[in-house]
Amino acid sequence: MRARLSGGHFRMLNEKLYTCTGKEALDYFNENPALFDMYHSGYQEQMSHWPELPVNIIVKWLKDHSPSLVIADFGCGDARLAKSVKNKVFSFDLVSNDPSVIACDMSNTPLNSSSVDVAVFCLSLMGINFPNYLQEAQRVLKPSGWLLIAEVKSRFDPNTGGADPNKFSKAVCDLGFAPVSKDFSNKMFIMFYFKKKEKQNSKSKEIQWPELKPCLYKRR
Ligand code: SAH
Repeated sequence: MRARLSGGHFRMLNEKLYTCTGKEALDYFNENPALFDMYHSGYQEQMSHWPELPVNIIVKWLKDHSPSLVIADFGCGDARLAKSVKNKVFSFDLVSNDPSVIACDMSNTPLNSSSVDVAVFCLSLMGINFPNYLQEAQRVLKPSGWLLIAEVKSRFDPNTGGADPNKFSKAVCDLGFAPVSKDFSNKMFIMFYFKKKEKQNSKSKEIQWPELKPCLYKRR
C-alpha cells in the first residue's frame, strides 16, 4: 500500500516537473522540500529497472578525458556524477540535500560566463522552458567547451509523438554549438555530444525549438 502511494506521488511530481517552468518547480519544492525526497526515491526506483544508467556513460566519458576539465552538472539529482570523478564539478539542482549541491533553478546559475569545460544534462531537460537551461550552459561554457545531453529515448521518437532529434540538434547548433556525435544505441536513452563554437554568431536569430514531450512513467 505504502509503495503504491509513493509510486503515485512520484508520478504526480514527475509530471509536474515536465509541465512547468524551472522557476515554478523551484518555488514548488521550496514550499515543500520533503516532496523532493519523495520524487527522488521514486526516480531511483524507476532507474533500478534500466539496464544501464546514462550517468555512468557520462562518467566513463569524463574518465577518458582530462581530470582537469571543470564540469557543471545541470540537474544533478543525488550528485552521483560529482562523487564518481576526480574533476572539479559544480552540481546544481532545485533542492540541496548535500553540501556539494547548489540549489537553484538551472536557467540561472551562480557561475561566471566562460568558466567551465563541460556542461552535463543527464535526463534533466524537464521544464517547459528547457531552452533557457541550454542557453545558460552556453553562457557558462568556455569556447570549445563540451555540452553532453542524455535524454529519455521516447522523447525523441517522432513515430510516437516525440521530437525530431535532427530538429533538436539544429536548434542547439543555432544557439552556438557544433554537433560532434550522437548515440542512439541504448534502448532507454539517447546521447548528444556538442562543442561550443569558438566564435559566436553576432546576429541572434529566432531559434526553432521542437517541443519535448513529458516522460510519464507507467504504473507498475
Ligand atoms: N542527473 C541525475 C538526475 C536526473 S533526474 C541523474 O542522472 O541521476 C532530473 C533532475 O533534474 C531532478 O533532480 C530535478 O530536480 C532536476 N531539475 C529539473 N529541472 C531543474 C531546474 N530547472 N533547475 C535545477 N534542477 C532541475
